[in-house]
Amino acid sequence: MALINEHYLKLQAGYLFPEIGRRVNEFVAANPDKKIIKMGIGDVTRPLVPTVLKAFHEGVDEQGKPESFKGYGPEQGYEFLRKAIAENAYQANGIDIPADDIIVSDGSKCDTGNIQEIFGASNKIAICDPVYPVYADTTVMSGKTGACQPNGYYEGVIYMPCTDENGFTPDLPTERPDLIFLCYPNNPTGTVASKEELTKWVNYARENKSIILFDAAYEAFITDDSIPRSIYEIEGAKEVAIEFRSFSKTAGFTGTRCAFTVIPEELKAYDSQGNAHSVKKLWLRRHSTKFNGVSYPVQKAAAAVYTPEGKKEVKEVIAYYMENARIMRESLNEIGYTVYGGVNAPYVWVKTKGGMSSWDFFDKVLNEANVVGTPGSGFGPAGEGYFRFSAFADRDNVLEAMTRIKNLS
Ligand SMILES: *Cc1c(COP(=O)(O)O)cnc(C)c1O
Repeated sequence: MALINEHYLKLQAGYLFPEIGRRVNEFVAANPDKKIIKMGIGDVTRPLVPTVLKAFHEGVDEQGKPESFKGYGPEQGYEFLRKAIAENAYQANGIDIPADDIIVSDGSKCDTGNIQEIFGASNKIAICDPVYPVYADTTVMSGKTGACQPNGYYEGVIYMPCTDENGFTPDLPTERPDLIFLCYPNNPTGTVASKEELTKWVNYARENKSIILFDAAYEAFITDDSIPRSIYEIEGAKEVAIEFRSFSKTAGFTGTRCAFTVIPEELKAYDSQGNAHSVKKLWLRRHSTKFNGVSYPVQKAAAAVYTPEGKKEVKEVIAYYMENARIMRESLNEIGYTVYGGVNAPYVWVKTKGGMSSWDFFDKVLNEANVVGTPGSGFGPAGEGYFRFSAFADRDNVLEAMTRIKNLS
């Protein structure tokens, strides 16, 4: 008899986006003449930039000629891409990460989820609330939790509430975690962590032999130079942190797929006898067993992001999204909303007025302004009373949406 992995039975049904879809469809069916503006799901809308597209095409053409055709590539990623990443994303900023410590993959969603596999089931995991749902669900799948409780928290997970009271950066937990998921700039709150804040976490991880799983998917959106773009800007982080980065939001690769994980050679985790082991070695072992590399044209396209023209073009797209964020922030501020984020991240996190619940606000904005956002409570209990607007939208739609929200009663 085939038995299932029963940890999967603990998972709560993916509720947030299906429920948003259900309510939107219901509204559309009842109001077929209304034009809906979607500012909910965190997906990009601008196309690949010309320099990236050109490299992508070249890569495809190379695959069509016997002299340049490539079969399986290195599982870790082609050296040309890993070198481009190391030099441009790290060494150029004074961070000493060699190409050998970079492992290319087809997405940070997979990486942040799969990484759980190389850590034992007895590890205690700390995650923020609200949170990117992947961290929690993959913690459950890998058998590190008990059942889901009525408040939506899984037993055995250390939840760290992030609210306006702590500036959306969590306090150090009272119970000691082994693995700590941090995401800055943050999805969903759009807020950032200062150098001081991250130093607190690196020191804590060093004292406790914990590992920080640092999701930097939105680092390219940082506009304030005092905010760290990488966890490795913090002294001592190489011994306690894994960094996840993706071309998805940085360069519009959500449908093209390329990302990477940085695991410094110095990073160690322990066996039950207390012996130290290289985490990079374990991850490479997993990666090369279960993954056969990102397609060559895609890696070529990703490397083009680091050419001078590629950098310039990508920056313009990011500036377009960040101008959307500015418009949203200022428009919502003007009509009396308290707004967080949207300065160094493409998300604007709005506090509803008068203690209105996230879903009530969702219904109001949908029904009266025909605009779709994301209820904060869908990302965790501490998101209740907040609402997320994504800046990954068309400018005209952003302007129209803000006008409609201003005209709400
Ligand atoms: C979008 C996003 C990613 C990127 O995922 P990919 O699989 O690389 O597309 C990673 N982390 C967070 C928090 C995100 O919002």
